[in-house]
Amino acid sequence: MSYVTEVMQTVVARNPGEPEFHQAVKEVLDSLEPALERHPKYRANRILERLTEPERVIIFRVPWQDDRGNFQINRGFRIEFNSAIGPYKGGLRFHPTVYLGILKFLAFEQVFKNSLTTLAMGGGKGGSDFDPKGRSDGEVMRFCQSFMTELFRHIGPATDVPAGDIGVGGREVGFLFGQYKRLRNEFTGVLTGKGVNWGGSLIRPEATGYGATYFAEEMLATRGDSLEGKVCLVSGAGNVAQYTVEKVNQLGGKVVSLSDSNGTIHDPSGIDEEKLAYVLDLKNGRRGRINEYASHFRGSQYRDGARPWDIPCDCAFPSATQNEINGEDAKVLVKNGCTLISEGANMPSDPDAVQVFLDQGIFYGPGKAANAGGVAVSGLEMAQNSQFMSWSREEVDARLKGIMKRIHDSARSTAEEYGHPANYVVGANIAGFVKVADAMLDQGLV
Ligand code: NDP
Repeated sequence: MSYVTEVMQTVVARNPGEPEFHQAVKEVLDSLEPALERHPKYRANRILERLTEPERVIIFRVPWQDDRGNFQINRGFRIEFNSAIGPYKGGLRFHPTVYLGILKFLAFEQVFKNSLTTLAMGGGKGGSDFDPKGRSDGEVMRFCQSFMTELFRHIGPATDVPAGDIGVGGREVGFLFGQYKRLRNEFTGVLTGKGVNWGGSLIRPEATGYGATYFAEEMLATRGDSLEGKVCLVSGAGNVAQYTVEKVNQLGGKVVSLSDSNGTIHDPSGIDEEKLAYVLDLKNGRRGRINEYASHFRGSQYRDGARPWDIPCDCAFPSATQNEINGEDAKVLVKNGCTLISEGANMPSDPDAVQVFLDQGIFYGPGKAANAGGVAVSGLEMAQNSQFMSWSREEVDARLKGIMKRIHDSARSTAEEYGHPANYVVGANIAGFVKVADAMLDQGLV
C-alpha cells in the first residue's frame, strides 16, 4: 500500500463524520506523491501522520442572552493545527453549518496557504455555529464577548492570531478585540482585520478579493493575456466577492453575477463602480439580501435558488463557500467558454470539478494559492502592529501584489520541477508542504 493511501485510511478512521476534512487532506496528499517519492525522509519521519493531526483542538460553550431575554447556547472552536513556521494564524467563521470537520478542513488548508505567503505564520482556524444573520448589533456584541471570554486564554500575538471569515467582518472583529483587551489589559495585535484607527492595516478588507484577481492576472500573463475585456462570474456577495468585483473592474474586466445562499443575480451590463457601491451598502450597511439588487437595477435578473455557473463567461471567481461548484457545473462552465478559475473561497470546487478543470487544461488557481492575499495582508498587519507603524495604501497594495506574484511563480515552477507543468494544485501543495515539513524535521519530534 502506498504511504499516501495508508495515511489517508488512518485519517478517515480517526476523524469519522468529517467529510470536508477528508476531502481537503486527500486533495493535498494525492498531489504530494512526487515529493514523497523524491524525498524518503518525509516518510521515514512520519511527517504526513504528524501533519494531519492538529497540534491542539479547543471546544467550548458560548452562553449568551438574546434581545428578548432568552438564554442561547452555542459551541465555540479553535483548531491550532500547525505552528512549525510561525504562530497559528487563520480566521474565525460564524455560520450555522460550522462543526469540527469544516474547521479542521479550513485549518489544514491554512497551514499550506500560510507557508506559500513566505511570511512566518502557522495554520489555525476557529469559529462557532452561531448565525449572525437577523441578529441585532447588541446580540452580536454579547455573543462575541462571551466567545472571547473563553478564547482569550488560548490566543496571543505570539501564539495564535485569529482574523475574520464567513460571518466575521469588521464589526465582529471590533467586539472580539474589545473584550480581549479588557480581559488581558493589553493592547496588542492579537487579531487582524481590525479597524484602521486602532491597529488595522489598510487594504486588509480588500486583500482576499484583490489577491484572487491579481492571481488570475498572473495566470493570464503566462499566455500574454489579461483581464481586459473579460466577462467574469463572481459568486457570494460578502467581503471576498465585493473586492473581487472592484479589482476586476479596475483591471478592465466585467463582472456579471453575484450570489448569496438564497440565489443569484445576473447583470449582463456589468456591476460597475456605482452598482458595487449599492452592494456594499446593501450587504455591509443594511445587511440585506442580494435579490434586492435586481429590483433596483433594470436589466438585471434574480434567479431564486440558483448559482451563477451556467452564465457564459471567460473567467470565474467562486467567492462564497466550500463545494459550491460540482462536476456538472464545471462541465457547463467550460462548455460555455470559461478558461480560468481563481478561487476566492476555500475549496469551492469539489473533487469532480477540479478534475474537469485539470483535464480540460484551463487555468485553475486553487484557493490556498489564489486566496492567500487575505492572510498575507494579515501578516503585514501583524508586522505593522509589532513595530507600532502603519503603512500607506500604496505600500500595502504593492506588497500584496508582489506576494501574489511570488505565490503564483512558486506554484508554477514547483509544478514544473515535479513533472506536472501548469498544474497549480500540485505546485501549490508541494511548495507549501516542503517548507512546513522541513521546519518540522528541524524542530524534532514535537
Ligand atoms: P462573508 O460572510 O463576507 O460572505 C460570504 C458570502 O457567501 C455571502 O454572500 C454568503 O451568503 C455566501 N455564503 C456563505 N455560505 C454559503 C452557503 N453555504 N451557500 C451559499 N452561499 C453562501 O465571507 P467572506 O467573503 O469573508 O468569505 C467567503 C469565502 O472566502 C469563504 O470560503 C472563506 O473561507 C473564504 N476566504 C475568506 C477570506 C477573508 O479574508 N475574508 C480569506 C480567504 C478565504 P449569505 O449571506 O446568504 O450567507
